[in-house]
Amino acid sequence: MNLQTGEYYWPTTFSSPPSYPSLNSDEDCDVLIIGGGGSGAQCAYYLADKGLNVIVVEKEKVGCGTTSTNTALIQYMGEKLFINLVHTFGEEYISRHLQLCKQAIDEIEQASQSGGIDADFKRRDTLYFASCPEDVQKLEEEYLFLKAHQFPLDFLSEEEIGKKYPFKKPAAIYSYNDAELNPFKFAHTLFACAAEKGVKIFEQTEVNGKKFENGGATIRTKTGHTIKAKKVIIAAGYEGMEFKKEKKASFVSTYSVVTNPVSDLSAWHNQTLIWETARPYLFARTTADQRIIIGGLDEDTFYAEERDSKLMHKKEQLIHDFQKLFPSIQVQAEYYSAAFYGGTVDGLPIIGEYDEYPNTHFLFGFGDNGTVYSMILAKIIAELVVNGSSPDAELYYQHRPLLAKHSLT
Ligand SMILES: Cc1cc2nc3c(=O)[nH]c(=O)nc-3n(C[C@H](O)[C@H](O)[C@H](O)COP(=O)(O)OP(=O)(O)OC[C@H]3O[C@@H](n4cnc5c(N)ncnc54)[C@H](O)[C@@H]3O)c2cc1C
Repeated sequence: MNLQTGEYYWPTTFSSPPSYPSLNSDEDCDVLIIGGGGSGAQCAYYLADKGLNVIVVEKEKVGCGTTSTNTALIQYMGEKLFINLVHTFGEEYISRHLQLCKQAIDEIEQASQSGGIDADFKRRDTLYFASCPEDVQKLEEEYLFLKAHQFPLDFLSEEEIGKKYPFKKPAAIYSYNDAELNPFKFAHTLFACAAEKGVKIFEQTEVNGKKFENGGATIRTKTGHTIKAKKVIIAAGYEGMEFKKEKKASFVSTYSVVTNPVSDLSAWHNQTLIWETARPYLFARTTADQRIIIGGLDEDTFYAEERDSKLMHKKEQLIHDFQKLFPSIQVQAEYYSAAFYGGTVDGLPIIGEYDEYPNTHFLFGFGDNGTVYSMILAKIIAELVVNGSSPDAELYYQHRPLLAKHSLT
């Protein structure tokens, strides 16, 4: 799958990451994780130290997939408002999901310090502004819902926004304690931590043959070796859809730029994460070396050629839209990319379990908060593997519409 095109910033921030051998023998294991991106790393992190023989295979190098283009705003609020999710799933269901998102951010913080590589995790507040007056009411309803669930946040008027930022917007939610990180270093630190605890990681080891049976799976690699596994986790990111097409998932095209480092960010209140209610939206954050990441302007296409043909125009547009918000912070794009971006029809990520893949869990952490969702799913999948059950798995199975509106207890 042609996932993305462009110049990627994150790999340049870590010039000598740990490297791992390719597989050159046949192996047996308890758990095989396919995919060496952020979500494979999150699974390895939760499964290390559980007395299991765990293997990870990555067809290229760790972190070279979508993990390299992930803009890594670490938030619980997502593209679909919680008030809309409540309409689909009911309040009890979504309250639990919300709690799990919050917990996942705390665990991402902990995990980011696990493997001796600083993943530049930093707590940040978020400004989520109404792009037009018509969006104020739904934003206020979202604020009231989150406030009722004890989330620390404020509702800002146009005047209050104007006092903190060099722009005015009709209203905004200001939420506390989200975060940003470096997703490439994050994947590496989790794998380093897992490897230290005995997880075997193989790079340049592509799975290209598979036989799934009730007793376990036999996986073949491109280099002709086999891995027999009692359980398999497919954490191949958007390429997981090449193993099994999930009807509830779909792709759009998205764009991002990373600017030159900026010496003066004082106009940017608390270097908040910024995004908006407009669709397609614009979002922005800063990095550890004072660059600015600007992204969004999604296009409804799943053709790589069409996606890429718009890249130069989108690059200009992202910079232009950012300068309208912060005219005093003059920037140029130093890195820019176009990428596919996966979402789900109902707004929740998916744990796929399918009859033709016994003993296998598909981690589809799709959505704008993919890093947070993958952390939730990786933890649940680890519980399913180790204990045979997880109290929260039902929230995310692909067949969940049957559960919608039903009480979870
Ligand atoms: C532009 C963009 C911006 C985003 N911004 C955010 C954001 O701000 N916040 C957020 O939380 N999320 C964001 N996301 C989502 C986030 O990037 C993803 O959720 C996350 O990176 C997915 O990680 P992954 O490990 O699942 O996928 P990947 O990083 O793609 O890893 C999958 C790995 O599997 C390997 N693989 C595939 N097939 C095989 C095979 N047959 N054999 C062996 N290995 C295989 C691939 O080589 C790859 O390395 C964004 C996504 C995009 C595209």
